Amino acid sequence: APVLLWFRRDLRLADHPALVAAVEAGAVIPVYVLDDETAKHRAMGGASRWWLHHSLMALDAALREKGSRLILRRGKSDAELARLAEETGATTVHGIRHYEPWWRNAERSVAQRLTLCCHDGNYLLPPGAVTTGAGQPYKIFTPFWRALRERLPPAPPLRVPQKIGAPSKWPKSDTLEEWDLLPTKPDWAGGFREEWTPGEAGAHQRLRRFQDHAARYDDTRNLPSIEGSSRLSPHLHFGEVSPAQVWHAVEDAGGQVEEYLRELGWRDFTQNLICQFPDYAAKNGRPAFDKMEWRSGRDAKADLRAWQLGETGYPIVDAGMRQLWATGWMHNRVRMIAASFLIKHLLIDWREGERWFWDTLVDADYGNNSVNWQWVSGSGVDSSQWSRVMAPLTQSEKFDAAGYIRQWVPELAKLSDAVIHDPEAAGCRPAAYPPKRIDHREARERALAAGRAVR
Ligand code: FAD
Repeated sequence: APVLLWFRRDLRLADHPALVAAVEAGAVIPVYVLDDETAKHRAMGGASRWWLHHSLMALDAALREKGSRLILRRGKSDAELARLAEETGATTVHGIRHYEPWWRNAERSVAQRLTLCCHDGNYLLPPGAVTTGAGQPYKIFTPFWRALRERLPPAPPLRVPQKIGAPSKWPKSDTLEEWDLLPTKPDWAGGFREEWTPGEAGAHQRLRRFQDHAARYDDTRNLPSIEGSSRLSPHLHFGEVSPAQVWHAVEDAGGQVEEYLRELGWRDFTQNLICQFPDYAAKNGRPAFDKMEWRSGRDAKADLRAWQLGETGYPIVDAGMRQLWATGWMHNRVRMIAASFLIKHLLIDWREGERWFWDTLVDADYGNNSVNWQWVSGSGVDSSQWSRVMAPLTQSEKFDAAGYIRQWVPELAKLSDAVIHDPEAAGCRPAAYPPKRIDHREARERALAAGRAVR
């Protein structure tokens, strides 16, 4: 009988242990199930769906070159896999393990109906591989990374099998078009198409481009005006490239590559946290934060909307939010500034921001998004202090964001480097650009006062 190969966030052929195991077992039926029911309110957002469409197209094309193809089904993963097994006589499913709470549930229910073989392959090491001296999982990044680093490098990546055995008869498949993953009216994905090539080949293009810069990563990663980071996050999220492949491609770059490898470690760390706290996108890591009096009501709603649209009057924040809207991605330094602005300057619940990012990021990732939002807000188990209120205008100058602002906020494109970070203070805010939603000092005082309540 053929075996099922269950693709989820591992849309690649290289370094895919489940694919290798399935090929060794005989004929393979690769399947992707679009499962909004298991994920419920955590179903993929709009930007992710755009990515998924193109990534599945690329995966199907790559499979066809190997004599195979991708079967598409829609519904609950366990029911759809069981149905497919019945149609084809398969009894075994191979897949790569995932740690989002809904995927862990789905794996349990699939295992009740079929033989499920889960393989590790999307992280440097599986969560739980390193623990504290007392055998507990880590809650703080630095000691986690120290322990993990000692166990690395990861094993060398696996090769793509020469050929993938086909079943005597292919089962029925949905078409991608009928899933309606792409935007229609309006088509907001023009900027996405310009910036990204979803799929395994696109991931390797990015990786090759980054190899030449990896040695200077620490000098350039914080500068949003240049391409100083790898931009691999959506490719890593969808598993078009594995972290082991990335590691082995850059580890010999020398210079500052260790700082880069450490960021890959953050990705592993967030999975460790969501395994311990599956509700991390909904529940404060520090219960004291449940007492925080977030602003709500009409004014707060208008502020939230202005933040989403990139119309806060703070150029660096607006540039970031518009980059996000146009391309589905935002520079990491600017993510921190924009997130901090929403939470501390506008005093709006971090969960509102997490939600917006979930819908608009092409790299929207349950672990990475929730852990980073809680880190910025100070509500996380691993967090910095609430009293560290980021000053967006100072950050903008310090990280030389003038070029970035010109690119994303055209109303300000004619301003000089000296005034572009804070045109209002310099008395040269163009009429087309909104005034600040709130004064920085006033916001800082309000945030500090609110923070005293949750100490
Ligand atoms: P690089 O600097 O080239 O780093 C390489 C890889 O390491 C990234 O692709 C990513 O997989 C991982 N990485 C880097 N920084 C982090 C981090 N802080 N936490 C976890 N992994 C990291 N990243 C996501 O992948 N998905 C998200 O939904 C997400 N939401 C975020 C929300 C906020 C509020 C903040 C502050 C950060 C968030 N990040 C998220 C982390 C980070 O901003 C992105 O991973 C990074 O900007 C991606 O760009 P890059 O690939 O060029 O990163």
